[in-house]
Amino acid sequence: MEVFNSTGLMLGSIVNAKYLKLESYWTEKKYHNVSPIWRSLCAVRSSMKEAVCWAVGTGHEIKIWSDPWVPYLPDFRVEGLPGAQRKIYRVADLICQHSRMWKVDLVHEYFTPHEARAILSIQLPMDAIAGRLLWLKTPTSQFSSKSAHTMLTQNAPSSSSSPKINPAFHWKALWQLQGISPRVQIFLWRVITNSIPLKSRLAQFVSSIDNCCPLCHFSPETTDHLFLKREVVQLVWFGFPISLHVDMNNNDFTLEYIFKGWLSQPSSFEAAKMGCAIIWSIWKSRNRAVFDSWKFDPKEVITNALHVYNEHLVDACISPTLPQTNTQVGLVEASAHWSRPPEGYIKINVDGATWKNSIAVGLVVRNELGMYWLVDLSLMKISLGRMLLLRQKQELS
Ligand SMILES: [Zn+2]
Repeated sequence: MEVFNSTGLMLGSIVNAKYLKLESYWTEKKYHNVSPIWRSLCAVRSSMKEAVCWAVGTGHEIKIWSDPWVPYLPDFRVEGLPGAQRKIYRVADLICQHSRMWKVDLVHEYFTPHEARAILSIQLPMDAIAGRLLWLKTPTSQFSSKSAHTMLTQNAPSSSSSPKINPAFHWKALWQLQGISPRVQIFLWRVITNSIPLKSRLAQFVSSIDNCCPLCHFSPETTDHLFLKREVVQLVWFGFPISLHVDMNNNDFTLEYIFKGWLSQPSSFEAAKMGCAIIWSIWKSRNRAVFDSWKFDPKEVITNALHVYNEHLVDACISPTLPQTNTQVGLVEASAHWSRPPEGYIKINVDGATWKNSIAVGLVVRNELGMYWLVDLSLMKISLGRMLLLRQKQELS
């Protein structure tokens, strides 16, 4: 395993020979009667998952179901269609070694459409060279014990509020949130620590990957671009009960900044949970748009985010209280504060914003619980002669 071999200690060869006869490092379950080194390596396995990915060559050395090899998928891994795991084992079996092309039929036979698209997007080298296990924590993809140490220190739950990373980020508050799906909670952590496979991130390590946003083909796909600053995503933030108005022109208005504010005090924890649900839902829709050619629909993102948000409310016996979103220093201008209409009334919020040559308009209708909503939106391209900036907020009750 190159990761270990490149420590220069031959440690990898020894460990491979001794313990990894057929099993992969990722699936080996033996913990007893093993050396302290191997036990330590197993202990950090889950942290290592986000740090390595194969660059596919011939595919002979890559195990389809346990190794990380598809850069566009979560943890770089595939699950496949039911039964597929018994039929095919090595990535090499999916590649025609003469033409150096994917066996498209096989890929479609064994994987979901989403995974198949991700696999087929991997560019195979023209020559039948061996694959390389890339270490994603250094720009050169070369393993260094320093980078591993930094990563593991960052990942350790006890030191996740370590001043070394995101000093002011309230990790502790994040982990203590009640009534939130753990997968969504962890997803925020991955986003803030820049650990999800966004194009801009992948392009740092794999030269054949374009860093451009696959949805708008306009900006690099960064965390803030995908989750916050795209026009269509603005509508999501505004249309959700948080009614967050995204300031497109303020570079300091980042995802980290917003969540930092929300997690700094209990009165905005609900907003933080909603924010987690939104980014999770945006990511799901982004993946469906990229791999399954679905349309990125802000209404659908909101519906799914509401579902995710409500999922655990009952478990936590929390009434759907509405968040105070604008209580944190600096966030006052960032979000429109929503107050409930009296029982039996509905409230309509309208927001408009301009961005480059477009206007976006969002309309939200809610009852006193804030849980019924409707977003009517229009995105218009306008020929901009000298258009006055239009940013109006009206609150009608
Ligand atoms: Zn984009």
